[in-house]
Amino acid sequence: MAKKQFKAESKRLLDLMVNSIYTHKEIFLREIISNASDAIDKLCYLSLTDDKVGMNRGDFFIEISVDKDKRTITVSDNGVGMDKDELENNLGVIAASGSYKFRQEAGESEDMDIIGQFGVGFYSAFMVSDEITVVTKKYGSEQAYEWQSSGADGYSITECEKDAVGTEVTMHLKEDTEDEKYSEYLDNYRLYALVKKYSDYIRYPIRMMTPVQKEKEGSDPEKPEFEMVDELTTINSMVPLWQRKRSEVTDEEYAKFYQELARDFDKPQRVITVSAEGGVTYRALMFIPSRKPLNYNTDAFEKGLQLYSSGVMIMDKCDALLPDYLRFVRGVVDSPDLSLNISRELLQHDRQLKVIARNLEKKIIADLEKFIKDDREGYEKFYANYGRAIGFGIVSEGGETRKDELKDLLMFYSSTEKKLTTLREYADRMSESQKCIYYAAGESAAQLDALPQTEMLKDHSYEILYLTGEADEFVIQTLQNYADKPFRSIIDGDLELGDAENELLDEKEDLMKFVKETLGDKIKEAKASHRLKTHPACMSAGGGFSFEMEKYFKNFDMPDPMKADRILELNTKHPSVMAMETALLTDRTKAELYAKILYNQALLIAGLPLDDPSAYTDMVAELMK
Ligand code: ADP
Repeated sequence: MAKKQFKAESKRLLDLMVNSIYTHKEIFLREIISNASDAIDKLCYLSLTDDKVGMNRGDFFIEISVDKDKRTITVSDNGVGMDKDELENNLGVIAASGSYKFRQEAGESEDMDIIGQFGVGFYSAFMVSDEITVVTKKYGSEQAYEWQSSGADGYSITECEKDAVGTEVTMHLKEDTEDEKYSEYLDNYRLYALVKKYSDYIRYPIRMMTPVQKEKEGSDPEKPEFEMVDELTTINSMVPLWQRKRSEVTDEEYAKFYQELARDFDKPQRVITVSAEGGVTYRALMFIPSRKPLNYNTDAFEKGLQLYSSGVMIMDKCDALLPDYLRFVRGVVDSPDLSLNISRELLQHDRQLKVIARNLEKKIIADLEKFIKDDREGYEKFYANYGRAIGFGIVSEGGETRKDELKDLLMFYSSTEKKLTTLREYADRMSESQKCIYYAAGESAAQLDALPQTEMLKDHSYEILYLTGEADEFVIQTLQNYADKPFRSIIDGDLELGDAENELLDEKEDLMKFVKETLGDKIKEAKASHRLKTHPACMSAGGGFSFEMEKYFKNFDMPDPMKADRILELNTKHPSVMAMETALLTDRTKAELYAKILYNQALLIAGLPLDDPSAYTDMVAELMK
């Protein structure tokens, strides 16, 4: 039969596997076993609702066998199997597993990381084998098929004989080279160790011929003699970790379980266990990954926890169990109360599931509160990864804000502490007389710290929170206040300093009128500033829609993006502003030049684009003549 070619994108990944220099080639076994386990999950799930399957949970198994002479390892399962189309679509196209998408988004250079983070499924077997044969029979079908491929030159599918439903994957190992000893995978002990390392919690027995000590037949019971006999033995421990008490499980075991679940080489940053009885009975084991998955901010990322009912997996990624903002959490939930007959779509609306989801959310928040207290450094690392997520939970979670629950998990850079701080800590440091919690939103703490607007507050030794996250200002506006103190933007808002000096400020109305006339529509208003000290000018947005929001919305493709008001604030005690006032009496053109320059300077400091940079430099050059 003519060979079929792999789809282009599959071929690229395949080439990568065939020629892989990846050091953890051993993960191929984990990938193949995990596929077998998924296939069993599918049939096991069917068997619960369909008597025709005729199998019990205890009947399912995965078996590994080795043929040293033929240099092959075979992994067989009695799972759901594949028909011809499925063979074609599942093993001929990598996109089926989503791995290709990850890879595309991560860029070519991160190939090795992809293998580590996500595994690459079935194709990883080509890292160690030069030929793979898959013999499979689908549940409910009479005909079995054989898929065979030596990698790059394509694959063939032919009809074949197979009695039982299920799949057998036979990998013919590559020849050993100087650097790689593929023969090591023919060693039972090596395979045993790999199963223990990566697949110990697979819920079905993984069996393999293993040498066990047996009493020699016919030996004297008084003086028994022993011999080593190969026996089919279950090598994985199977007991789901989440069914064991936290105190009885080591950190190592949790880490191993997580690594298997999330296909991550890193250890999790947090382990969260929940055991609930009463209303709805369930156990959950959740993890916060130490780093963001590469596809975290893309559409390819799927949130959700694995859902089990009494040890049988119902769904791999049940998204109804996690609110969007906590989508980085990985883990499993097992509840005997969930009905197995319920369809997967209906499950999304299940009342019990909703109760579980809400409780899990609370547990995760409670754990984060503990995290911040127990391990500040760790929390800051967490925050660098997922701080935005906390903000999103506040701004809106399906229309319902979680601001009261989440506000103490926020962190912002403090102008006085010179490090991240929480709102609680800020409030605790506030003096009685301080009326507002001050903040400034912008690109970076350094840029914000240099703003003219900060001067007056620094003079009063007031602390300012520098908001540098994209949506931070929306978060603050949603909160409105903290510990009964309103948030106030130092860029736009009334600082409420109640300074005697400020109250006596000369408003210089004529001068301001002149500036407004000169600049026309470019500004909404020119006014004498209450917040400047040594700097001549700054731009404020008059509260409400801020410059940061303007920049934020510019990212979206909108025909007519909203713009913040531009209010030019001038320091009437500054020599340059006074010079403009003097010029106005004698040389109006010069005064106009001053007004325009001050306006441009205010734009620059605010990080706003100049209307015409070259005209601005010409104006400055004009002054220098
Ligand atoms: P993933 O497991 O991430 O989906 P793989 O490349 O490992 O990607 O496998 C592709 C698909 O092939 C699987 O999703 C599954 O549908 C099918 N498959 C692989 N191995 C088996 C098996 N042992 N039994 C049944 N189907 C399988």
